[in-house]
Amino acid sequence: MPDLTAAFFARNTTSVPEPMLQQTAAANTDANEAFMKGTGPTDVWLDSPVTSYIKQGSMAVDTPAHKKLCIQHEGEVYWSHKEVLHCIMANGQRKGVPPPHARADLVKRAHEQNGHFGIRRTTALLLPHYWWAGMGLNVRHMVNKCAVCDKVNAAFNSSTQQLYPLPIQGIFYRWGVDLAGPFNPISDSGNRYVW
Ligand SMILES: [Zn+2]
Repeated sequence: MPDLTAAFFARNTTSVPEPMLQQTAAANTDANEAFMKGTGPTDVWLDSPVTSYIKQGSMAVDTPAHKKLCIQHEGEVYWSHKEVLHCIMANGQRKGVPPPHARADLVKRAHEQNGHFGIRRTTALLLPHYWWAGMGLNVRHMVNKCAVCDKVNAAFNSSTQQLYPLPIQGIFYRWGVDLAGPFNPISDSGNRYVW
């Protein structure tokens, strides 16, 4: 799915320092478990003191001491490089954390350009590259409202009618004709049906 990764990863080739990886392992495990349960921590993009700390490495001078610790703790699992925010996973992999306004389109493209997979498989397509709080819920919402999936599911879920054997009768007792029409305009020969 290279087109999906290009926007957030093409510019980022910086490695993460090893001490930072060790510090963030426990926090990432918590984040993964929260994701699998369909819930997540507060969206980092909506927490401006944390995003400022991640991007600039500093906090407002009047930030209370206990708040500073919280911001530092939150910020440890993220990595910002050239305006692209990443979450550092327990195994050291960095996953893009797209801003909230970009997520719906990202999920939609992953779902529609890869065969309209269901919730789990659409999520599996995104997870190697992206992570954000509530990602599973976003995918569920998008897949559930997909009009194409709705039509296909309706066709698959339609009940199959019971078949009844036809009685064996004499030759030419029953005829079958595939007929289409009437068509408009009619043909040059004046015909309006095809069979
Ligand atoms: Zn679909």
